[in-house]
Amino acid sequence: MGLACQVLVNAALQNGVRRLVLSLPEPLSAFSAGQYLSLTVGEKAFPFSIANAPGADHLELHIKATENSADSALVEQFLDGHPSSVTIAYPLGNCFLNQLPEQPVILIAAATGITQIKSLFDWLITQQYAQKVHLYWGVVTPEELYLDDYFKTAAAGPNITYTPVVSRDDTNWLGRTGLVGEAVQHDLKNLNDHLIFVSGSPGMVYGTLDLFTATGFDAKNMRSDVFDYAPRAL
Ligand SMILES: Cc1cc2nc3c(=O)[nH]c(=O)nc-3n(C[C@H](O)[C@H](O)[C@H](O)COP(=O)(O)OP(=O)(O)OC[C@H]3O[C@@H](n4cnc5c(N)ncnc54)[C@H](O)[C@@H]3O)c2cc1C
Repeated sequence: MGLACQVLVNAALQNGVRRLVLSLPEPLSAFSAGQYLSLTVGEKAFPFSIANAPGADHLELHIKATENSADSALVEQFLDGHPSSVTIAYPLGNCFLNQLPEQPVILIAAATGITQIKSLFDWLITQQYAQKVHLYWGVVTPEELYLDDYFKTAAAGPNITYTPVVSRDDTNWLGRTGLVGEAVQHDLKNLNDHLIFVSGSPGMVYGTLDLFTATGFDAKNMRSDVFDYAPRAL
């Protein structure tokens, strides 16, 4: 059954990303960091990761339109109408954290996959997680790094690293380039000593998994929603 939420904020954030803040629905249902909800639009429902950590009095979504997608156009048209309330189903997804991992964590996001990763990242920080957290964010162009300042500030602590990685050649970009998985593999040699979360499209997630397993990584150390909603044929 769908749950009604008030829309508290519906505004452009940066570079085509919309920030939607919803009141917590009644009856209240707890979620864990990394889970998602489905947003009802007409007869359909679309999954969006919850971008904030549990414990707040709201649910935050970051939504980016996909070019040439009728479904995405439907979502945009609905939200452009500034509804005062929306219907959601939540919490969804099995790729989450509700207890602190014993080993250090690597968080890998591609594009809007950063939303799920932000919830995990924020939760680890609020829990004062003492192990290392390595956050990598892969994008095509630097303009897509709409949370760059946020993560730079949050990564000031000694246990946290934040590495944005841009895949398209850009003369103005002085940071890391290439594919995000390759950057992780280059920097961290002991991947099996970490718990790794990957958020992005199925192609990106499986590409990263294959890259890592080719050099001895054990797939059981990787978590992603993709493994549930787009399982690979055996
Ligand atoms: C579990 C899940 C969570 C999602 N969370 C978000 C979100 O927080 N913000 C957002 O803008 N879109 C998110 N999406 C994609 C969103 O559901 C679609 O954009 C939407 O349904 C419109 O359809 P589409 O044709 O664009 O979908 P698709 O063609 O399925 O997706 C298009 C875009 O969504 C991205 N995407 C795919 N899977 C995920 C994922 N797991 N997390 C984040 N991005 C993903 C892709 O990289 C691509 O850029 C999520 C999708 C899934 C399956």
